[in-house]
Amino acid sequence: MAIVSVFILIAVLATFVLKNIHEKKQQRETIDIFEIASEIQETETLMETRKAQETEPETMAETQETEPEIMTEAQETEPETMTETQETEPETQKTEPETASTAEPKAQEIAKAEETAPTGIVICIDPGHYKGASNLSGDNFYGYEEGIFTLRVALALKQELAYYGIDSYLTRETDSITIGGYTNGDLDKGHIGLRGEYAKDADLFVSIHTNANNENANGCPTCQQPMEINKTIVIVNQIAAKSDVAINVANQIGMELTKASYEAGLTFTDEFDTVDKSSIKQWTDTYNDMLNALGTVCCRIGNDGDYYGVLKGSANIGVPGMIVEHGFHTVEEMRRLAMTEDLAQIWARADAYGIAKGFGIVGTEM
Ligand SMILES: [Zn+2]
Repeated sequence: MAIVSVFILIAVLATFVLKNIHEKKQQRETIDIFEIASEIQETETLMETRKAQETEPETMAETQETEPEIMTEAQETEPETMTETQETEPETQKTEPETASTAEPKAQEIAKAEETAPTGIVICIDPGHYKGASNLSGDNFYGYEEGIFTLRVALALKQELAYYGIDSYLTRETDSITIGGYTNGDLDKGHIGLRGEYAKDADLFVSIHTNANNENANGCPTCQQPMEINKTIVIVNQIAAKSDVAINVANQIGMELTKASYEAGLTFTDEFDTVDKSSIKQWTDTYNDMLNALGTVCCRIGNDGDYYGVLKGSANIGVPGMIVEHGFHTVEEMRRLAMTEDLAQIWARADAYGIAKGFGIVGTEM
């Protein structure tokens, strides 16, 4: 019996031990499975992470690829826009000089910016003749009329003078002129002196003109004169001829106009023959029509004082006066620039700058 019990006990123990071993084995297997599962999960997570990482770079790469494309497009677009803008701007700048500030020296811009305070100086501007007074017609005349063109110069000059603080008024502001009950033709001949006397409230009388020559001068048709005849002539009255300031104004106007005409391609020289009280020349037909002569300041004396009625008129009231013969309208290129370009503005700026320099409002260079 005892032996049986011992066997039973051993059997029970053996069973327990075996069961225990089996359970442990199962646990280990379970652990292994967990570990494997865990490993699998880790691997999967890693793979996913890697995938994610791999995907990310792909996405980034895609994004980067896309971005540069956009950038490239943007960059390509931008320069085009810039180029277009840059191309447009110069056109705008090109337009400006033609309409408002053609070939203006920088010094004038600076002077204008600085000098705008009223100077107390008043100029009487006389736009020569009137519409229809001496109109030219035919081929290569471009519709040029001295009486129309001088008004354009005069109106522009009034504006230009204002930049320097110089006040001014005109003998006419339209195509026709009326003073003291007289009109147009009367004020170009018999009663022309009234134009000059209109300067009674001014410090200076300036009559705006373009020049002409004798019939068929230099062997050329009257209105087909060579460029070599073109020059600026300022004719001063007897009052101006005795005034250092007025002579200086005449010199400065002459120099500035000559420079402006040279830059505009209307003369072959930018030199102007300046004068003082003792060296003012007498005006002559020969000098007027001469080729390659420098522009200068002249007087023209008649039988009774000043030859020209407008200058005699301003001299009668004690006002220094001058006729400014800007250039020769008998030269085709001058007519062309006057009517197809903005020569009126170019000359008005030169006149104004010359007047401002002559009165010492801006720096002079003699
Ligand atoms: Zn004239």
